[in-house]
Amino acid sequence: MARLNSNYKKLAAGYLFPEITRRVQNYLKDNPDTQIMKLGIGNTTEPLTPTIIQGLHQGVDKLASIDSYTGYGEYHGELPIRTALQNMYRTYNVNLDPEEFFVSDGAKPDSANLQSIFYTDSIVAVQDPAYPVYVDSNVIAGRSGTFNTEKGLYEGFIYMPCTESNGFFPELPSQKVDLIYLCSPNNPTGAVATKEQLKLFVDYALENQAIIFFDAAYSAFIHDPSLPRSIYEVEGAKKCAIEINSFSKVAGFTGVRLGWAVVPFELKGENIQPGDVNKTWMRRQSTFFNGPSNIVQAGGVAALSDQGQKECNDLVTFYMNNAKLIRKGLDQMGLTIYGGDNAPYVWLKTPNEMTSWEFFDKLLIETHVVGTPGSGFGPSGEGFFRLSAFGHADDIVKAIQSIQENLRI
Ligand SMILES: *Cc1c(COP(=O)(O)O)cnc(C)c1O
Repeated sequence: MARLNSNYKKLAAGYLFPEITRRVQNYLKDNPDTQIMKLGIGNTTEPLTPTIIQGLHQGVDKLASIDSYTGYGEYHGELPIRTALQNMYRTYNVNLDPEEFFVSDGAKPDSANLQSIFYTDSIVAVQDPAYPVYVDSNVIAGRSGTFNTEKGLYEGFIYMPCTESNGFFPELPSQKVDLIYLCSPNNPTGAVATKEQLKLFVDYALENQAIIFFDAAYSAFIHDPSLPRSIYEVEGAKKCAIEINSFSKVAGFTGVRLGWAVVPFELKGENIQPGDVNKTWMRRQSTFFNGPSNIVQAGGVAALSDQGQKECNDLVTFYMNNAKLIRKGLDQMGLTIYGGDNAPYVWLKTPNEMTSWEFFDKLLIETHVVGTPGSGFGPSGEGFFRLSAFGHADDIVKAIQSIQENLRI
């Protein structure tokens, strides 16, 4: 008899974004002529840059001729894109081998799948609040107990609170854990870890033979040169960290799909010899995945060229100007805000101790602006609210204007 994986029944989520949609629809039913302004979604809005479009076209054209046609490629991406990534890391003094790169269809699938090569009984630590896939993929893999609705968390996971008092970077786990998820620049808080902060986790991981999954999907949004763009800028990290990154936010590839994981040869652990994790991830990818699209890789190589990088930097600057507008507008109102300096998310403390959902309703009804309730990312997100800098500048200006004029606090 066929039975579904019952761990899917444990998932509390599927809750956040559907619930946002439900509340917006509900409001529109009673107020059908309202113009809703979205500052909620972490999705890019600006077109691909000319160099990337050219690269994608070249990728297509190659397939039109018998001399340059290619079918299945390498499971971890063709050498040109892995070499281009290697060169990008060199610009922040990180030396990696092309065979340590696994180019994929995105950072979300990688962050969901990487746990699968580790022991089922691994103890998992996550930042709280966090990008939901880290928790959900481990629930599905059977590493959690049930969801505790009262506390808003799964039994069996180690939640590492990221709060105002610790600057939204967690303290080390007080017990031994095996797998640690870190995201910097952070979605949703917009906080960026310093080298010193990451060093604490690297040292902990080395001491406890733990593995860190470091999600750097927003690394390109860091403009402060003292902040690390890669965890490998920290000594010892190649022995304990797998880094995940993506073309989605920096190059507008959210719909195009391209990401990568760095799986260093040096990684160690209990029963793990150097090279083992790299080999096992290759085994996993070659079994379940046939490599990233060749057309898309051509776009990725173009994005990593000097001109491509220049254009991507302009794209980042565009979104970061939106972040500045949001910060400035809310700051003028006396609201308490975090993030938005080196990350495209502003993390707003809800005024008057409102819950995240209370503030969501108030913002929707009074200003017609939609954001994301912090509590949807984990219990420590309660009392906070995420505003996204992804959007057309005109729309951001309108939304902020409406908040300034109509929010009653
Ligand atoms: C957007 C985002 C990603 C990107 O995922 P892709 O699958 O590459 O589009 C990864 N991690 C975080 C935290 C994100 O917000």
